[in-house]
Amino acid sequence: MTIDLKTLTIEKAHAHLVAGDFTAVELAQAYLDRISAADKDVHAYLEIFSDVIEQAKAADARFAAEKSGGMKTTLLTGIPCAVKDNILIKGRISSCASKMLEHYEASYDATAIARLREQGVVFIGRTNMDEFAMGGSTENSAFGATKNPHDLERVPGGTSGGSAAAIAAGMSLISLGSDTGGSIRQPSSFCGTVGLKPTYGAVSRYGLTAAVSSLDQIGPITKTVADAEILFNAIRGKDIMDSTTISEDTYAKSEAVADAAAGKKLTIGIPRKFMELGGIHPEVKRVFAEAEAAFAKLGYRIVDVELPNNEFALPVYYIINFAEVSSNLSRFDGVRYGFHKDGIAGGKNFLGANRAAGVDDYFETRAAGFGREARRRILLGTYVLSSGYYDAYYNRANAMRSIITQDFNAAFEKVDIIMMPTAPAPAFKIGEKASDPVSMYLEDIFTVTANLTGLPAMSIPAGRTTSSGGADRLPVGIQLTARHGNEAALFAAGKDFPCEAVSAL
Ligand code: GLN
Repeated sequence: MTIDLKTLTIEKAHAHLVAGDFTAVELAQAYLDRISAADKDVHAYLEIFSDVIEQAKAADARFAAEKSGGMKTTLLTGIPCAVKDNILIKGRISSCASKMLEHYEASYDATAIARLREQGVVFIGRTNMDEFAMGGSTENSAFGATKNPHDLERVPGGTSGGSAAAIAAGMSLISLGSDTGGSIRQPSSFCGTVGLKPTYGAVSRYGLTAAVSSLDQIGPITKTVADAEILFNAIRGKDIMDSTTISEDTYAKSEAVADAAAGKKLTIGIPRKFMELGGIHPEVKRVFAEAEAAFAKLGYRIVDVELPNNEFALPVYYIINFAEVSSNLSRFDGVRYGFHKDGIAGGKNFLGANRAAGVDDYFETRAAGFGREARRRILLGTYVLSSGYYDAYYNRANAMRSIITQDFNAAFEKVDIIMMPTAPAPAFKIGEKASDPVSMYLEDIFTVTANLTGLPAMSIPAGRTTSSGGADRLPVGIQLTARHGNEAALFAAGKDFPCEAVSAL
């Protein structure tokens, strides 16, 4: 049968694989063909793995074995998955889209990957991103920008732009991204996909190259909410390799989760005052108002909530981001990992032949190996962590982070879900914000709070722009945030909502 990549979901694909309508090899080949046709324009992938067909053959063998009473298949067996380039797959390059790690080969699987591998997922390739997960457009890749498949002159969002573009363009069925301040949700909004940033600790960070350890989470990018739920359930859970992971039991029995799971209509809070500060594009306002009306029609109760300190979330986020980035990236020094600049320094004066401090190797390697945004954050982060400024910036930002978390907890006394736009505007043009970091940072106004508070948040496709301002028919997402550990509420509301992925196929 011909495989309709546009409407395929995990459950549909599984049913076809079980029925023998097509094999995992045929499914993988359909995606490889689509990639050959579309990815030269989109550039979602940095590499297509050489063993895709072998992986798919192993999945087919598992289906055959199951029939004769052997190894069981799962919903994910034979399902093609694209993986962001900062998640380690044993034996594969994981470059974080940086020259620094261009040739770095992972020596182990990330826990999320290991869990998917056990189920027989077929890893198609690694997807492009902003270098070390810093940015909002995938333009900060050392290996060229990814384009938005809905409009090749626009960005797909970032930093998981490759993973979102791959799904929107039908170049994989599911994908993994990572989200530190919006990097799964904002590209999902721009590309018309579903993107979930799980509760902090729900998914192990073992094997995710750290950007900001207190904010990073791996999560799914898919076409449907049901697919996101399946993928999330496959990768979540306690892991002895990441002490910040939480076990499902710590929250699975809460009343809120039970309500959501039982299909009780939930209460949605909208922080209207805060949203007024956001400078929201009129088309995003319209789509948001329509989404609000759709939820009301479905029987959800809609109320206003206050998040009085959200206006400080961006500066707080960026101070914490810079501080932790500067510390996490210090390991990339040309000695321990990856790139090492040859030439003037060439490892010869590590002990101090030229410069007084004797660290030419570090200087030269880091100057050549990191892109502009990474260097900017390392410098600013080193500054906010320096003695004398540590209290004024870093400690104050952390104090404010607690206050913002208390605000959210207070709001969640009254509501089950908080709804905001995912991003203040639809996808912008390539180059439009590239030379203005602050305008790029403002993209994150609605997404960073979920990371600062650790709460789960999901972007779902809610509509498209009309032809205004040259932004014709671009996808627009809305963002749902829930209580700690209550992804169930997000899935329940997301599945109720009449949303459909916006395919660029
Ligand atoms: N745009 C945000 C930043 O640049 C988010 C990045 C992310 O989530 N990895 O920090």
